[in-house]
Amino acid sequence: MKTFDHRHATSVDDAIEAVSAPGAAFLAGGTNLLDLMKGGVAAPTALVDLRRLDRTSISVLPGGGVFVEAGATNSAMANHELIRTRYPLLSQAILSGATTQLRNMATAGGNLLQRTRCPYFMETSFAACNKRDPGSGCGALHGFNREHALFGVSDACVAVHPSDMAVALSALNTVVHVQGPNGQRVIPLDRFFALPGDTPSVDNTLAPAELILGIELPPSDFADHSWYLKVRDRHSYAFALVSVAVGLQLEGGIISSVALALGGVSAMPWRLAAAESALVGLPAVRRSFDIAARLATEGARPLSQNGYKVDLIRHSVVAALTSAAIDRSVEDTAPDDTATDDSGTKEKP
Ligand code: SF4
Repeated sequence: MKTFDHRHATSVDDAIEAVSAPGAAFLAGGTNLLDLMKGGVAAPTALVDLRRLDRTSISVLPGGGVFVEAGATNSAMANHELIRTRYPLLSQAILSGATTQLRNMATAGGNLLQRTRCPYFMETSFAACNKRDPGSGCGALHGFNREHALFGVSDACVAVHPSDMAVALSALNTVVHVQGPNGQRVIPLDRFFALPGDTPSVDNTLAPAELILGIELPPSDFADHSWYLKVRDRHSYAFALVSVAVGLQLEGGIISSVALALGGVSAMPWRLAAAESALVGLPAVRRSFDIAARLATEGARPLSQNGYKVDLIRHSVVAALTSAAIDRSVEDTAPDDTATDDSGTKEKP
């Protein structure tokens, strides 16, 4: 591994100034970046360590939303009473990812910035990867691509974003607060990630040296009717082949509002706007969910090995909507790490 400098940032301004040096990178939980450095995929000249900034709070906003500072760990988020009670979809999604040990280290900001686990990207002995080595080609496009994307792809890259948390955040209409050399700004989550296009080495819309300050969760009407369904090759410690985040608001059994987002199918959480529009005003029953499932795969562009995801998306959308329609207002929707397995699933009542 290449040698690098390490220093603790003393303030947000100090961190931004320090990371402006050529080749410098932020370090938070390190659960992804350190792996990339050990594998030779990333080689920063300096790490600007954010952990002593102590930006870990989770608090109520004046308008009724919740603000999560970027240094809050995934475990702290998933198990925090505000998240468990107001955004159970987010707790469920976070607990479906990684392992307890990783969730204890990984941070909210770092989760959004984690990079794809495409094997051609992760393994430097594979020569062709436009994301790791721009202009070298894409090994996955005509190679091993059963886990890859169907939406928003380009001929330059077909990788998926690996986060579960981001899929739930998309369905919850989250906003990301950032600060850089030119001040602070907010980025709606659905504009935070970048599709590959001709520049797959760029994962997001952050400007150079911009630091994620935190994520703002607006007030949500989905606490009683939400579900995160994750389908993967093994029951634990695996990334999603397909995941579905659902939030429903029901009035007398009729869907008055709905949010649907897919994971494991694109370089960003993939919102299903057409399916959402079709569901509003329909009863929360199977025939309505089937309509959403058909619309969910419109525009899909399967590769040689991932065509199975088309059917998997349809079945997963129906299953997630069915689970979300169950009223959990009287349940304890607050599983903790000791009571919930890594699958994020639990028995229906
Ligand atoms: Fe690289 Fe993207 Fe192709 Fe994977 S899909 S090999 S990350 S360019």
